[in-house]
Amino acid sequence: MKIFKTLILLVLVSSSMLLFAQVPQKEAAVKRPNIVIIISDDHAYQTISAYGSKMMQTPNIDRIANEGVRFDKAYVTNSICGPSRAVILTGKYSHKNGFKDNESSVFNGDQDSFVKQLQGGGYQTAWIGKWHLESKPQGFDFWQILPNQGQYYNPDFNMMDGSKKRVEGYVTNVITEETENWLNNRDESKPFCLVIGHKATHRVWLPDTADLGKFDQVNFPLPANFYDTYKGRKAAGIQDMSIAKTMLIGYDLKMFGSDEKENIDGNFKRMNVKQRAKVDAYYKPIEAKFNGLKLEGKALTEWKFQRYMRDYLSTAASLDRNIGRTLDYLDKHGLNDNTIVIYLSDQGFYMGEHGWFDKRWIYEESFRTPMVMRYPGLIKAGTVSDRFVMNLDIAPTVLEAAGLPIPKDVQGKSMLPVLKNKADKGRQVLYYHYYENGEHAVSPHFGIRTKRYKLIRFYKRVEGWELYDLKTDPDEMDNKYGKKGYEAITAGLNKELISQIEQFEDNDALRILEKDNKK
Ligand code: CA
Repeated sequence: MKIFKTLILLVLVSSSMLLFAQVPQKEAAVKRPNIVIIISDDHAYQTISAYGSKMMQTPNIDRIANEGVRFDKAYVTNSICGPSRAVILTGKYSHKNGFKDNESSVFNGDQDSFVKQLQGGGYQTAWIGKWHLESKPQGFDFWQILPNQGQYYNPDFNMMDGSKKRVEGYVTNVITEETENWLNNRDESKPFCLVIGHKATHRVWLPDTADLGKFDQVNFPLPANFYDTYKGRKAAGIQDMSIAKTMLIGYDLKMFGSDEKENIDGNFKRMNVKQRAKVDAYYKPIEAKFNGLKLEGKALTEWKFQRYMRDYLSTAASLDRNIGRTLDYLDKHGLNDNTIVIYLSDQGFYMGEHGWFDKRWIYEESFRTPMVMRYPGLIKAGTVSDRFVMNLDIAPTVLEAAGLPIPKDVQGKSMLPVLKNKADKGRQVLYYHYYENGEHAVSPHFGIRTKRYKLIRFYKRVEGWELYDLKTDPDEMDNKYGKKGYEAITAGLNKELISQIEQFEDNDALRILEKDNKK
């Protein structure tokens, strides 16, 4: 009798297990959205037509915005490549995830990440393209990454099995193709999360042969503050990232002066004969003309600016086209209805504002980043959001969308509540901390941005404070710190800064402020 009971129980258990194993999991697999996150490198919102740019058209990024949401107030916590990726992965500030700068940081892959959570929750996960975190990716069923910054032509990849693979072609096309190969061969019984890490539009802005000369007929207007004198802004005054002084005629703008010099340039020497012939046929006549002009002073700086704009935007044209190719893939394979697509850059970039290229600062052009997101069924097409969101928020947003719990130590906030509920005002203050103290001579700093003001504390290279009223001075040219009439505003912002530092447990920043108070 006892045996009989046990048998019945076993049958019951196994049939209910079968139910759980088959029906609900299959249902869950259908319901749970796939996730595609496309991360570009140094792509300025000023150059994206969805953001109103007149510099060029970006129809495919615009398509994501038009079919989903355009975030007009998306920011990063630390405006530089590796650190931004570490923030995206972990949903934690640099001082918590440990990857503070591109100089000496190595990402500790043993820590938690949204990808590990997704993988544990039944997702198939992959990262293909630029990674730049110095250690091996963890939490992925598949990865294929560019070593360090990677190369524009015929890029090498580090593979999971320790081997290297070189793929002939232009990097943005190659990365897109490799992601399609992975998608074609994935396990279709599981939802997937794919991160596409594009190299474009990073320095040295080397375009695809198909895009050379695309913007040569355009004369780009100089930004109003192109000849900024940095009055009242000590850190800005000592930087080394200007188009006039820092941008190199050879390395950056491909005017090498001789074949010998061009041959030793890493980007050029790896091109195949056909690629090299096309690239040379484009740049050599420009160089010959440039040599004849013998430009100096402002004329030379403005020539450099035009060349920079033309190369950068040509690189961006390929990026946008390849984003379109990824969207087309999803369409063709019936995946678009059930796939979230997020496009963002790892941070913003200067297109000549303040006379600069590069990033790093808490000033708007580098602090802000383009971010658009398509989520059929949840985000209404054509939504524009002015809520403060950050790269810090990608991890919790994706976890919420996948129906997985958000670990308590994640510091970002899911972006879904502000999208679902118009009355939700979201975050009111943005906290920022930049650490690197090397290339481009940008002083480390931390600070906050409220809806109207920005308070910044520079340290190490430059010691001092800055305060901006973004309503009256959106280009951040007039440092109001210590000026008459701003005492109460500064005191209020200072209190808010301390509150943010305490909330995010940024002990490095706290120690600096404690020292200030002891003086
Ligand atoms: Ca970057």
